[in-house]
Amino acid sequence: MFDLIPDMAFKRAEISPGALAFRDTSTGLDWSFAAVNDAANGIAEGLTAAGLTEGDRLAILCLNRAEFFLTLLACQKTGIILCPLNWRQTARELVDTLTPVRAHAILHDAAHADLAAAVGSETGAALHDIEGTLGGWIAAGGPPRNDAVPANRPWYLLFTSGTTGLPKAVTQTARMAWVNAVNIGQAIGLTSADRSVNFLPLFHTAGINLYTLPVFLNGGSSTILPKFEADDLLALIRDGAVTQFFGVPAIYQAFSLLPDIDRIDWSGIRCGCGGAPLPEPLIRFFADRGAHVLNGYGMTETGPTVFLMDPAHATAKIGSVGKAQMLTEVRLGGVPAGAAGEGEIQLRGPGITPGYHENPAATAASFTPDGWLATGDIGRRDADGYYFVVDRIKDMYISGGENVYPAEVERVLNAHPAVLEVAVIGVSDDRWGEVGAAFLIARPGEAPDPDAIRRWCRERLAAYKVPATVRVVDDFPRTAAGKIRKPDLRKTYDDA
Ligand code: ATP
Ligand code: MG
Repeated sequence: MFDLIPDMAFKRAEISPGALAFRDTSTGLDWSFAAVNDAANGIAEGLTAAGLTEGDRLAILCLNRAEFFLTLLACQKTGIILCPLNWRQTARELVDTLTPVRAHAILHDAAHADLAAAVGSETGAALHDIEGTLGGWIAAGGPPRNDAVPANRPWYLLFTSGTTGLPKAVTQTARMAWVNAVNIGQAIGLTSADRSVNFLPLFHTAGINLYTLPVFLNGGSSTILPKFEADDLLALIRDGAVTQFFGVPAIYQAFSLLPDIDRIDWSGIRCGCGGAPLPEPLIRFFADRGAHVLNGYGMTETGPTVFLMDPAHATAKIGSVGKAQMLTEVRLGGVPAGAAGEGEIQLRGPGITPGYHENPAATAASFTPDGWLATGDIGRRDADGYYFVVDRIKDMYISGGENVYPAEVERVLNAHPAVLEVAVIGVSDDRWGEVGAAFLIARPGEAPDPDAIRRWCRERLAAYKVPATVRVVDDFPRTAAGKIRKPDLRKTYDDA
């Protein structure tokens, strides 16, 4: 798109200096765009004085807070590469995570001081705390840094969710952030009047890019919650502090069970959802209360927004992720966009990552020979051009010679009134090669009977798709973003 991109904090401070950018509920501080830019200049100066320079990696370990974004913007000014860490991991896991990244320093909040110290002593990374050292850098300030930045320069690294295996570090650039802001902004009409709320963990793309950074780039404000608490979020929504927000299906699921849910006026709020299949009953639950939960599809590798549903079709095209947004091209398994059918979702456009951090082999494996990102997801396009995510290729299994997409079986199970959440995996079977194993979480007060559940499936699905076993469980193994980790579920099946 462009070779150089103006410094984001500087530009926003120039255009709307006094407007509110961030409201941080953990510190109680409000940050105007001018204050954000000043703070980012101070942090840039402090990091430079601490010996970090363009291309060096700075890890960050903290709950959601404004200083995370201030540091992110300081990194854009200096070319230092920010690497957000998952605070749910153990010291051992974090050391492994950081091995390929080779971070020079770790910035941490007080709550994670011990964890940071353990990781620092093993990796040799220097430690800086947010409350003390970073606070000092912000107070001291620094000379204005206003230089435009190379659009494709690594800005920060984000780990994929680790749903199918070990998380991979994906390079993120200023260009990707702008493309994402344009894709979302065009789809839902972001303006400087928008007020968002940030609660998804900042070590995954959704926490940063859905929709905090796009809202920032459009001059709107975000309230930052340290982490997801359904009641806190609902209170903000009820108080009119939010015009739009983004959640993953597990968040909407948690919401739907809150006693106060029926007291919310959803008019004027746009709700996005993505990252995992969004069950249709959940879409209908919210639609019945006047809220269109817009299903979207994206990946860490795509910055992330690629597909987003439009409100006018949210219920008419229920289950669809909408259309590919303005700055993304899509094709299915090599079939050119425009043809109907099913195939691997392949993507091209300026919002796609240049690759995995220092991993040319993994990068090469993720792109087709003609340069399209091979997502590993199967998609379908209907006659009106709406896309549906069929399933991950990795999750498909073959029973008696027939392909089964667990997502299709999960849709049928999700429609059962006693079922709250469900996951289906393929497991090996002497007779059929593989068969389905279903795991269910029951709705409060319900005790679904496995035989009745299988009967429900038999009435709605071809015999080879009916799960051979049905187990009721209390919860699923999940990623930090709430996605169900099917490889771990498979282990619990094998161990039983
Ligand atoms: P890993 O790559 O480490 O296994 P991950 O693929 O879950 O983890 P992310 O980049 O966070 O990591 O998630 C992108 C994936 O999430 C997509 O490739 C797709 O499989 C799934 N996904 C995203 N949005 C949707 C959606 N609306 N419906 C169904 N699946 C979705
Ligand atoms: Mg992935």
